Amino acid sequence: MGNIAEVVSKAVESYQKDPTRLLDVIRDVQDALGQVSDEAIVQIGHLMNLSKVDVEGVVTFYHFFSKSPVGKYTVYLNNSAVAVMMGRGAIAKAFEKEVGCSFGSLSEDGKIGLYDTSCIGMNDQEPAAIINGVVFTNLTEKRVKELVTGMKAGRNVSDMVKDLGDGNNQSELVKSMVKNNIRQRGSVLFAPYESGSALRKAVAGTPEDVINEIKNAELRGRGGAGFPTGMKWDFCRRAQGERHYVVCNADEGEPGTFKDRVILTEIPEMLFEGMAVAGYAVGAAEGILYLRAEYMYLKKFLEKVLDDLRKKNILGKNAGGKTGFDFDVKIQMGAGAYICGEESALIQSAEGKRGEPRNRPPFPVQRGYGGYPTTVNNVETLCAVSRIMVEGGKWFASMGTVQSRGMKLLSVSGDCDKPGIYEVEWGITLEQLLKTVGGSGAQAVVIGGPSGTIVGKEAFGKKVCYQELGTGGSVIVISKKRNLLEIVHNFMEFFIEESCGWCVPCRAGNVIITNKLEKIMAGNGTKTDLAELESWCKIVKGMSRCGLGQTSPNPIATTIANFRSLYEEKLKKVEYETGFDLLKSVQESCKVANRKPKIEGH
Ligand code: SF4
Repeated sequence: MGNIAEVVSKAVESYQKDPTRLLDVIRDVQDALGQVSDEAIVQIGHLMNLSKVDVEGVVTFYHFFSKSPVGKYTVYLNNSAVAVMMGRGAIAKAFEKEVGCSFGSLSEDGKIGLYDTSCIGMNDQEPAAIINGVVFTNLTEKRVKELVTGMKAGRNVSDMVKDLGDGNNQSELVKSMVKNNIRQRGSVLFAPYESGSALRKAVAGTPEDVINEIKNAELRGRGGAGFPTGMKWDFCRRAQGERHYVVCNADEGEPGTFKDRVILTEIPEMLFEGMAVAGYAVGAAEGILYLRAEYMYLKKFLEKVLDDLRKKNILGKNAGGKTGFDFDVKIQMGAGAYICGEESALIQSAEGKRGEPRNRPPFPVQRGYGGYPTTVNNVETLCAVSRIMVEGGKWFASMGTVQSRGMKLLSVSGDCDKPGIYEVEWGITLEQLLKTVGGSGAQAVVIGGPSGTIVGKEAFGKKVCYQELGTGGSVIVISKKRNLLEIVHNFMEFFIEESCGWCVPCRAGNVIITNKLEKIMAGNGTKTDLAELESWCKIVKGMSRCGLGQTSPNPIATTIANFRSLYEEKLKKVEYETGFDLLKSVQESCKVANRKPKIEGH
């Protein structure tokens, strides 16, 4: 811990008072002081020429910043549905017992803080936690005891990592116990790749040639929305602006998604080269990799990869050997907010602000980062770009289905024998996929994470592709032993937590929906409640301002559609609206008054 003024001044100076680096300044202050106090907020604002409200607004927006002390050791335990399915409850209890405080608070000596957090991108190796930025996977109660003993003894968290994972997880700059779990390699992403080959080919033609090749490939954005990449680049290139930007969205926060983690660990060169190709196509000199805070453990490694690419002249001045094409990439860390996966919110965050979605139009391709035309592309999309440059758009378009060309990387987790990463051709049926991952016999599959669809057996013959079962990558298998409504409830709590709060339908509507769901789950719901639940889902989907609110009721809406009996069998067999249990209330009041209830039949 240091003196507030000194720490703040050092942090602000190291980013040259650049307001777009506010998140980095705040992180440095928090790391040094264990909190970002009111005094620190005022001083940051003063030195960076920002108002106190601007700074405080950012501090209070992100999960990993805190105005109050968080402890020398901060334990963030994932509470997503798959973590719960894999035994998160027992691990949380073990932490509470060993540390001596409950989640959401600090140990008595203020040394260790226990906190819940949303999906940390480790669903294939849960239960998992991040302690001071270091990832611990496959936690057991015994391991928790060892970790807490180590923290109490003041040990360095990195020294407590035992077995390292595979591939680049073993690199000196990563040294992580995370496993890649690449179960199936395809021809686009995880096939041999010669670094530099894509950019060489791109700069041999014009930017328009590159855009046409991507259009020929019919490549659609791999983040979930599926917007045609070639068209996006075309819009961005044509948009007027002194400069253009390429932003890579490496903020995969959808519970159940972890494919970008593996790409960033194993094939980052292919990604950065894809960014350079994008830069050439849209006329940008700068690319920004927006990296989610949960993947901080990869930052040093990625910086080294960027350095190596500069040495190879794939990045930097005259990139790819093309005179006049200067393109470089910087990394901007996030600070924990699911909404920053939405492209306009991500841009806000990359500019050092609260990650709140912007009104559209203007679209980011017109006015994005810093007000300049910006293309925001997903990690997997940009890797596919590199492969398309080498193999050609026609080759890519020969795979997949009519509206979903090429291959797709899936992150599979939940109740299956082989959770991990699968590179498949679009159009694989869910049944085939379940067989491959060892998940046959599932009662349900969550496709596309909580914001996607929950389907049952009747849909297992459908294809994984945009027209039938679209997904940004998340596939969660749910066996018959699970209570599906509890999983739905977990998803709704996630959306309540992650709503940015800007608009009422999302901020309040999701709470109302969840309260209704709880009432039904407790056996106190009626037919009226179920009907109201359905109409609230429609209201929130139709009235919310951005994609988060517009998809947040999906877990309920799709389970009512596909598993209606789960709700109906919980309903009270009465026709009137009941907000409370009359019999239980009478019994309780009689107990207090020491009287015997006189209710016929009871
Ligand atoms: Fe924020 Fe939700 Fe409204 Fe999106 S829908 S702007 S996340 S409150």
